Amino acid sequence: MSKLDYDIIVAGGGTAGAAAAIAAARRGWRVLLVEEQNCLGGASTAGGVGEWFASLEGMGDIFDATVRELERFGARYGNQKVFNHEYLKIIWQLLAEQAGVELLFHASIFGVTKEGNTLTEVQIVCASQTLVARARFFIDATGEGDLSFLAGAAFMQGDPQSGAVLHMTLTAWMYDTGKVQEPYLPEELTSISGPEDLPGLGTGWVVGSHRVYLNATKVMGHDPTDPFSLSAAEREARRQLIRVVAYVQCHKFPTYALASSGASIGIREGRRIVGEHVLTQDEILNRTDPLIFEDGIAVGTSQVDFHSLTEPGAAGWRKRVEPYNIPFRCLMVKGFHNLLTAGKCISTDQVVHSSCRMTPTCCAIGQAAGVAAALALETQANTLRDISIPELRAILSAEDIELDPRKHRAYAPNDGCP
Ligand SMILES: Cc1cc2nc3c(=O)[nH]c(=O)nc-3n(C[C@H](O)[C@H](O)[C@H](O)COP(=O)(O)OP(=O)(O)OC[C@H]3O[C@@H](n4cnc5c(N)ncnc54)[C@H](O)[C@@H]3O)c2cc1C
Repeated sequence: MSKLDYDIIVAGGGTAGAAAAIAAARRGWRVLLVEEQNCLGGASTAGGVGEWFASLEGMGDIFDATVRELERFGARYGNQKVFNHEYLKIIWQLLAEQAGVELLFHASIFGVTKEGNTLTEVQIVCASQTLVARARFFIDATGEGDLSFLAGAAFMQGDPQSGAVLHMTLTAWMYDTGKVQEPYLPEELTSISGPEDLPGLGTGWVVGSHRVYLNATKVMGHDPTDPFSLSAAEREARRQLIRVVAYVQCHKFPTYALASSGASIGIREGRRIVGEHVLTQDEILNRTDPLIFEDGIAVGTSQVDFHSLTEPGAAGWRKRVEPYNIPFRCLMVKGFHNLLTAGKCISTDQVVHSSCRMTPTCCAIGQAAGVAAALALETQANTLRDISIPELRAILSAEDIELDPRKHRAYAPNDGCP
């Protein structure tokens, strides 16, 4: 079997992976981006999450380009933080094509080969074929840290005691049919008796004109990294969704019908891969001053958005945090020379994760990972440890990632809400 040969392979084409691949490819490197779905953007496109929940400024020129293009399409609703995620698919695609990224869709990385602490190649299944691709540097942006897991990296998952992860949600969109709908539930599905019986975060809200966004299912007690548990979560979410739709047709949006649901259930939290530093709640909570690291490569601005791991509905805790640096060490997979993580699977504890997992932040982290891998190649660094952090930061600043947390604003619309 012939082997594909690249400079950098990015696993997963969600927000972080797309940004990483674009950032590296536009510096002239041959980048392969391997994505299981048929589009880029991950949770924020295929997953149907059409909302940003963090400060939008200083997240880098790649994130800025996505916002600008959404506005040109008329797909951002006013200056709100909600958008029509369908347009984001073509926006990411065009940005990746312009940068020269090689895109491989319907492709899943399922194995790795390594020599000591260095990854050498990945095995990919795509269109019933097995492909083998080599590269010098690898970026794991799979959300669940699949590549690092396959490589044998250490990981954390869920609550340190129970292992429970933040809930999964199948998002959905409804449209206004203009006439009253007759809610119907197959007999296998029980109706929702009242507001206290709602599974997740309320009953949706109208965005733009004639569209309702439902982030309203809440599937707890499942493990997104366990194949059968993940399937059970999808089934449970689909049941909840149809029950919620019938409920909102009765009580809130009588003329609305179901338009679409996420291509797959939204996974808030999977594996968090142990890096050279684990960013913890002790570091970011209860501070009055922003947290600064010399190797900061992005800034987290979102409140801690910690959904209850056991209670249905909107239960949980929300807390404002001062903007904080995300250190490059959180992306450096412990024990590996040429592997970075990007996006929601970076090295943090569960509480920090519930802040830095937001889409704008993942975009900046991804861009930083892509530049770091490119810089390693440009400076003939044998390991990611050898790259110059001041040089990396200078490039990121020039690419409009504001690295000084003092220049960011905390984003905390639900501070203190239960
Ligand atoms: C229901 C829900 C609501 C949310 N609401 C908000 C919100 O309002 N605002 C906000 O800012 N954030 C929100 N988030 C968080 C945010 O959407 C995500 O954390 C963020 O988009 C994650 O980006 P990512 O690139 O790290 O991962 P993902 O977007 O998950 O991308 C990972 C990609 O990797 C691919 N992949 C996985 N495994 C493999 C493999 N083995 N081989 C190849 N490809 C693979 C996947 O198909 C996917 O495209 C929400 C998340 C969920 C689930």
